[in-house]
Amino acid sequence: VAKEEGRNRFHYFTASMQEAAQARVELINDLRGALQKNEFRLLYQPIVDPGSGRVHKAEALIRWQHPERGQVSPLDFIPIAEETGLIVEIGNWVFREAAKQARVWRQCHSPDFQISINTSPLQLHAEGICTGEWYDYLQALELPGAAIAIEITEGLLMENSFATRLLEIQRLGIEVSLDDFGTGYSSMSYLKKFDIDYLKIDKSFVRNLRPGSSDHALCEAMIVMAHKLGLKVIAEGIETSAQLGLLSDTGCDYGQGYYFARPMTQTEFDDYLKKSTAPLLT
Ligand code: C2E
Ligand code: MG
Ligand code: MG
Ligand code: MG
Repeated sequence: VAKEEGRNRFHYFTASMQEAAQARVELINDLRGALQKNEFRLLYQPIVDPGSGRVHKAEALIRWQHPERGQVSPLDFIPIAEETGLIVEIGNWVFREAAKQARVWRQCHSPDFQISINTSPLQLHAEGICTGEWYDYLQALELPGAAIAIEITEGLLMENSFATRLLEIQRLGIEVSLDDFGTGYSSMSYLKKFDIDYLKIDKSFVRNLRPGSSDHALCEAMIVMAHKLGLKVIAEGIETSAQLGLLSDTGCDYGQGYYFARPMTQTEFDDYLKKSTAPLLT
């Protein structure tokens, strides 16, 4: 009986594996057509200076509106886009969309408005991307590079070939933000080697933040270190006023999270900007 069960389980397993593989193939095919079919859009989440209440930064977060599946999370399709190389095209689309939007918000909201975009290693390795296409696009929009910041993760800094690429990007005036800081493998020596502009404290340090907790100590250490090295600090995943208060007291420069706002469409963000002029801390 045990043998029978085992065999059945095996059949069941392969069947579901086959289904998963089939679903994956379909997703890849759909992803190939998604750009042409205009199924992507960017949401924007404010990055707030809590002392002044100023909002002159936002992070762009991609969404895929799939005709049958509904909204697909970037956590589900970005890895596939990376494996298939589609991320290069998608990443360039994200760059162009963000640049267009940054131009609008610089004109009608704040002259130093900046949109940060998430980038994948593969995308930054692609020849000519940054120097060529991005440069041309910024020129065409008459937009300074500082209107854009790229978010990279620690792992990228460990790759030797990335050093020259980073310099190319920075020569365009584009700023660099180290995303999900504290969760990767990289050592602090990379902060010395590269000229990074922002350090984003990962939301896992913020989630259970309480006075005197180890997360509090770690946040404080990260902020002090970043400031000594000349970086500004953004804390992500702020959901409560207590978290915000603690981080501000610890010297954090910017906050991002549901406490301020969820990622929003461009129209929703416009409304949010109209309301957000008062200081959040008193
Ligand atoms: P990330 O860059 O670390 O982005 C922050 C994620 O945290 C976003 O998830 C955001 O919606 C979420 N978040 C914001 N505030 C809060 C909060 O207060 N609490 C909690 N629990 N979460 C919060 P999202 O939009 O699902 O994006 C997930 C990841 O997908 C991003 O993580 C980023 O790594 C990647 N991603 C998003 N857009 C792009 C893109 O255009 N290109 C690439 N290559 N990756 C992207
Ligand atoms: Mg990010
Ligand atoms: Mg990330
Ligand atoms: Mg992050």
